[in-house]
Amino acid sequence: MKSLIAGNWKMNGLGASAAEIEALIAQFDGSAPDDRDILICPPATLVNRFASAYSDEGFLIGGQDCHAKSAGAHTGDISAAMLADAGAAYVIVGHSERRADHGESDADVRAKAEAAFGAGLTPIICVGEMEADRTAGRALDIVGAQLDGSLPETAEDFVIAYEPVWAIGTGLTPTIADIDEMHDFIRGRTRADIRILYGGSVKPGNAKEILAVNNVNGALVGGASLKAADFYPIIMAAPGA
Ligand code: PEP
Repeated sequence: MKSLIAGNWKMNGLGASAAEIEALIAQFDGSAPDDRDILICPPATLVNRFASAYSDEGFLIGGQDCHAKSAGAHTGDISAAMLADAGAAYVIVGHSERRADHGESDADVRAKAEAAFGAGLTPIICVGEMEADRTAGRALDIVGAQLDGSLPETAEDFVIAYEPVWAIGTGLTPTIADIDEMHDFIRGRTRADIRILYGGSVKPGNAKEILAVNNVNGALVGGASLKAADFYPIIMAAPGA
């Protein structure tokens, strides 16, 4: 299975941030390697610009969220069809920041994932426990319930990102044994051909060890995806296909 290294830029990036992708391309000597998939999810304002400029260089471009409906009176929202029209190939759904800041439920996430697949995008469905759940020994139960509620019933192609909420942007990560246990658990709940990413404080210094874990098929990277100097070694730490 080809590794997928995805960068979630969150609400960061202006047109000038294209310089970071140019810097990545320079590191790759012209175009991205084809033995791993590299995805950049910039803010929606940059999706079309980046897809037009960098798809031919081997970069996949994705959105960070989409609405479950294809069009309508939803001011400020963006549909999966719009992202696809702008050149996106993937979309993140159910990120913990969306679940927390916008009250998105598992049912909302499932509806978005199905809308994404219907529009020709591959959804990346995020799940992950809170710190209190991990401490109380409930991490597998919580993630299991999120999978039951969020995974699409109709979509054939999707990606799961296991992102413990307490590890996002904190510099903290679960132990390798805990990542191994969770990814093995998630694999048991889905199919053999579905990629399962780990996300939460992946950095150049820990990427190799995390990406070598069984059933870790790539990473969803936040802060460290914003700078080519950090993202490049993470991309290269993934096992090639
Ligand atoms: C994320 O937001 O998906 C994420 C994993 O962030 P970070 O890498 O900064 O922890």
